[in-house]
Amino acid sequence: MRIDILTLFCDMCNSVLSESIIGRARQSGKVEINTHDIRDFTLDKHRRVDDKPYGGGMGMVMQAEPIYACFNSLYNEIGTRPHLIYMTPQGKTLTQERVKELARLDNIAILCGHYEGIDERVIEELQPEEISVGDYVLTGGELPALIVADSVSRMLPGVLSDDECFEEESHYNSLLEYPQYTHPAEWNGREVPSVLLSGHHANVEKWRREQSLMRTLERRPDMLKTADLTENDKKFLDSLKSL
Ligand code: SAM
Repeated sequence: MRIDILTLFCDMCNSVLSESIIGRARQSGKVEINTHDIRDFTLDKHRRVDDKPYGGGMGMVMQAEPIYACFNSLYNEIGTRPHLIYMTPQGKTLTQERVKELARLDNIAILCGHYEGIDERVIEELQPEEISVGDYVLTGGELPALIVADSVSRMLPGVLSDDECFEEESHYNSLLEYPQYTHPAEWNGREVPSVLLSGHHANVEKWRREQSLMRTLERRPDMLKTADLTENDKKFLDSLKSL
């Protein structure tokens, strides 16, 4: 998969994308992630890409043309139209379900706004999917774009090792994950649940499934509506509800 980020702050994105799991996945070619400086596409001799909003008001607005030219240059380079996402607090909130779907695409381009946002006409012209990372406002689309790039990349084959498997993680199956423990077996007087030390695989699996159901019921009962539950899961949840 290829992900292209259109931004005014390439260094900010590149520094994050060079580290840890995603950095290694890029190096080994499991995912290609590039950044493109929208400023390279301005025709302004001072390299300006923003201007005052029509109608007055605070702040600056990113101009349509450099964004449009940057996207078209990418389109020409790839030879096919990438699925374009505009990061905006006005978009649909990102979910793990959408992340899974995006991970099936070959090409994604992610547009980062800054300042007061971008000229509405380039949104009308390019018709991006509008995605938000939550109901709060950030200074720019770079952190949100990195969230999309990271969450999508880790779904790709080989990006996570077998022991970093994502299938039991929170949200993957509409359940929150069970609690995790590591060495030592006792810390600050707190012990690891004895079942995890038992070596009894089936009991560990049962305990984890029940913890996962219990946590989801306590913290995010809304998620249970879409979870894939077995008859045993339902019985266990009913027993908790009747307590
Ligand atoms: N004036 C805009 C509004 O009220 O909708 C907010 C602009 S925000 C200060 C600047 C840029 O940050 C946006 O264009 C967007 O790319 C990004 N951004 C801020 N919050 C975001 C969020 N919750 N999700 C995704 N992108 C966000």
